[in-house]
This record gives sequence, C-alpha cells and structure tokens, in this order.
Amino acid sequence: MRYTGLIENYRDRLPVSETTKLISLGEGNTPLIRLENIPAILGKDVDIYIKYEGLNPTGSFKDRGMTMAVTKAVEAGSKAIICASTGNTSAAAAAYAARAGIKAFVLIPEGKIALGKLAQAMIHGAVIIQIKGNFDDGMRLVKEVADHAPVAIVNSINPYRLQGQKTAAFEIIEELGDAPDYHCLPVGNAGNISAHWMGYKEYFKDGKAAKTPIMVGYQAAGSAPFVKGAMIDNPETIATAIRIGHPQSWDLAHTVKEESKGWFKAISDKRILATQKLLTEKEGIFCEPASAASLAGLIHDIQHGHIPDKSKIVCTLTGHGLKDPDVAISQCNDAMININPVMSEVRDAILNNM
Ligand SMILES: *Cc1c(COP(=O)(O)O)cnc(C)c1O
Repeated sequence: MRYTGLIENYRDRLPVSETTKLISLGEGNTPLIRLENIPAILGKDVDIYIKYEGLNPTGSFKDRGMTMAVTKAVEAGSKAIICASTGNTSAAAAAYAARAGIKAFVLIPEGKIALGKLAQAMIHGAVIIQIKGNFDDGMRLVKEVADHAPVAIVNSINPYRLQGQKTAAFEIIEELGDAPDYHCLPVGNAGNISAHWMGYKEYFKDGKAAKTPIMVGYQAAGSAPFVKGAMIDNPETIATAIRIGHPQSWDLAHTVKEESKGWFKAISDKRILATQKLLTEKEGIFCEPASAASLAGLIHDIQHGHIPDKSKIVCTLTGHGLKDPDVAISQCNDAMININPVMSEVRDAILNNM
C-alpha cells in the first residue's frame, strides 16, 4: 500500500476522526540505520541505530508534530498559525501551512537561524518576523499575542505536536521487534524526548513492546538548563536548534527522566562538531550540529561506562545536515584543492591524496 504519512498510518492512535481532512507531506517512516564503523572505532560491542529524522519532508522531525498540529488547526477553522522557532519549526510550519492554504507567521531570533531553515521559511511564503532576542523571547511573545490575534500556536506546547511526534517510537519498536535498551536525543524544549516516552509507554501498555527504554537527553554545554536544574537566560551554542534556556516541557522532561531512569548530560560544542564530522566521514550520514549532540553524548557515556557492552541503543538524528551548510563548510576549510584545467594537475591531485 502507498505510504501517505504518519496520521493515516497510525490513525487509530491519534486524535483524528474519519472526517478529519489530513494535511500531510508523507512525513514519518524514516530509516533506522545501524552504525557499522563507529562501534569498531570506539572498540565497543554496542548496537547503535540511527533514527534519521532528517529525512522527513522538510528535513527534521518537526514534520511529525506539524502534520498533526496543522491538521487540527485547519479542522478547528484556523486561517493562520504562528510559532517561535530556532529554525526547523518555522520551516515545517511554513511548508504545512502552504499545503493547507493557510498563513504562517514565524518568529525567529535575529541572526541565529541556520541558512537552510531560513531559506525554507522564506520560499514557502511564511511571514517572517525577526526579533531582537532569542528563542525564549519569541516563545513568550507568541504565547502573549495568541490572545490578541486570530492565530493558532503550533509550538510544542500545542499537545497535538507531541501526539504526532510519539509515532517515531512506534516505528522503532515495529522495526526492532521491541524497544531498545537506551534511546538518546538532543534536548531543547524537551518536547521530543517527552513525545518519544509517550509513544514507548503506549506500545508497552498495549503489549506491542516487552519493555521501555532508558531515555537519555543531551544538551549543549552553553545551553543546558536540565543539567543545571534551572532556567538559563542567555543560552549559547553553535547547535542553534537547541539554543534554548527556558524549555517549554520542563515538567514533562523531568517525569521522563524519573520514569525511565534516564539522565541529562551536557556536551561541549567542540565534541558536537567533532561527532557531526565523524558521522559524515565514517558512516555517510549527515546531520545538523544539534542532532549530533545525541551521538556525541552517547559516545561519551559509552566511553565512561555509563552504557554497558551489548546494549541496543537508538540515537535520534533530529535534522538534516543540509540545514546548516555554513557550519559544515567552516569545519572543512582545507578540503579543497585548486588547480589549472590540465590533466596532469588533476592526476597529481589524485595521486597525492590516495
Ligand atoms: C527542535 C529541534 C531539537 C530539539 O527538540 P525539542 O523537542 O525542542 O527538545 C533538536 N534538534 C533539532 C534539529 C531540532 O530542530
């Protein structure tokens, strides 16, 4: 049967009716890729799977939540949606609003949004409101303005977002035959880790999985309120997608940690970038910096004995590497050889670099 998106696929587990018009771009059903080279490089006997959410229609997991949020907004008669965004939410909101024929307003932090994401929001025709402030300022403003203008909020405080995002856990269980031992994610607002936990618990309760995983959340060191145990006013990290100091799903995320016996940990920008490069060079998988935080953290926790040998681990790569070409290129500045257009120079370039 033709795959037509995650709502259709999990209709009986999502809050839609038979008459709900679905706004979908075929999101979900993303690949679960087993790492073949990195475990050997680490010298560890661990089974690591990458849930490659960068292969959703707009290049991030945000599409899973956005298909639900926009579907329900349209069902409720909304003519416009609004979100604050570090980038990917605005790209998804812009695309799904275009699909639905409604208007999208996106609030982005000035100068702190990756180029690919900005391009997406612009080309899909969203109204882009750049604020002299960070994501947390944008989020506060969105909540305030929703009482004064006819717009539906599609940030992850919209409960339909998490409903859509929980389906990633269903897909993983179906593919592996059970839940993994550990599930690692990068954490910003913590909506996604909370949504995954909802999905895992739902399948466990219904007997579709024999266990639930230990949930592990990784934050960038300069932007790690869950590790600090308190909100942060001026978060900084090169991983702009998780540059969030006042997470919206604060309580939910703490419940996830307690119920799953998991933990939060901070990872330096340097390690995040090194892991992004390791993954591209050794496995052929290109993710954006924020996404690499999950694998960077996992590698740290494996090397420090927090995750034992023989474990089966799923690592979510939240967004595609093409989202942030500037950071990718800045890591590879010496990777280009300049020559004259003659065969001998091409030959030398090959022979000197075999
Ligand atoms: C939104 C986003 C995150 C953070 O997800 P939360 O649900 O806010 O914790 C991580 N990585 C990428 C690429 C994102 O777009």
